[in-house]
Amino acid sequence: MARIAFIGLGNMGGGMAANQAKAGHDVLAFDLSATALERAVAAGCSAAGSAAEAVTDAEVVITMLPAGPHVRAVYSDQILQSAPKSALLIDCSTIDVESARSVAGEAAAAGFRFADAPVSGGVMAAEAGTLAFMVGCEAADFPAVETALAPMSRATIHAGEHGTGQAAKICNNMLLGVSMLGTCEAFALAEKLGLAADRFFEIASKSSGQCWSVTSYCPVPGVGPQTPADRGYEGGFATAMMLKDLKLAQDAAAKSGAATPMGAQAEALYALFAANGFAGKDFSAVIELMRGRLGALS
Ligand code: NAD
Repeated sequence: MARIAFIGLGNMGGGMAANQAKAGHDVLAFDLSATALERAVAAGCSAAGSAAEAVTDAEVVITMLPAGPHVRAVYSDQILQSAPKSALLIDCSTIDVESARSVAGEAAAAGFRFADAPVSGGVMAAEAGTLAFMVGCEAADFPAVETALAPMSRATIHAGEHGTGQAAKICNNMLLGVSMLGTCEAFALAEKLGLAADRFFEIASKSSGQCWSVTSYCPVPGVGPQTPADRGYEGGFATAMMLKDLKLAQDAAAKSGAATPMGAQAEALYALFAANGFAGKDFSAVIELMRGRLGALS
């Protein structure tokens, strides 16, 4: 049993902290939202009055916060000031690579072990303890990180040095954003050409167009396995979240000098879709933009 400080108990962090408590760990939790904190207490965590108080006696500190500025602030002002140097610090938020490396640098300078460990999988996976973690940390620290994440994880993969966990996350999601747009275009064109969606699904699934967006997350309702398309594009991975990750990818591309024209186009298309009022819809609903049928979503 470990003493875990868990900071950020929102849609994702709430379920993740609950799984640490369920595994028998002593979880001292904090969130700025009283409602989120109450939910964590109901799930077996104890409430701290601040992030600094939560980490004071921690062996492991886990953060699950909205974005880079929140992570930088909580680390600089509270965690690095108040946690014992022996604590293992793990940030699971999706943030920009630069912030992750900056926090890692500050943590190392203060004598801490730190890992960036963003996740793949949504709220349901957070609740079920079946997230995939991509981890940027010193190789020597990885076994301890893997053990600490185990109650929340179905797979934990070492990506490399600090910041590479975040790099893996944004590269993967940029690929997903682009592949979903290609999938939507292909199904929209098939429809115009009189090719039934279920026939195209079967053929593309066994041909060179095969990809996860076709076979596991088909944007057309009633085709392939159950997906958000079968629930009116509710739940799943919100367009706003995809847009956040595509913006992080574009920011990283600009700073590193990488050419990502497809990623840039994907960001523009999801931004247009979100601006039409669909930021809360699953990202596969963008097929209605391709079909020229946005009205069907309202
Ligand atoms: P969320 O907004 O539901 O939760 C964030 C929580 O952090 C909130 O409860 C907020 O009150 C709290 N918070 C903010 N600043 C704080 C501070 N200074 N101290 C303490 N608590 C603070 O967001 P979420 O959906 O749980 O996402 C968290 C992270 O996980 C994001 O980086 C997101 O990109 C990433 N992510 C989300 C999903 C998803 O499907 N929701 C999937 C993968 C990754």
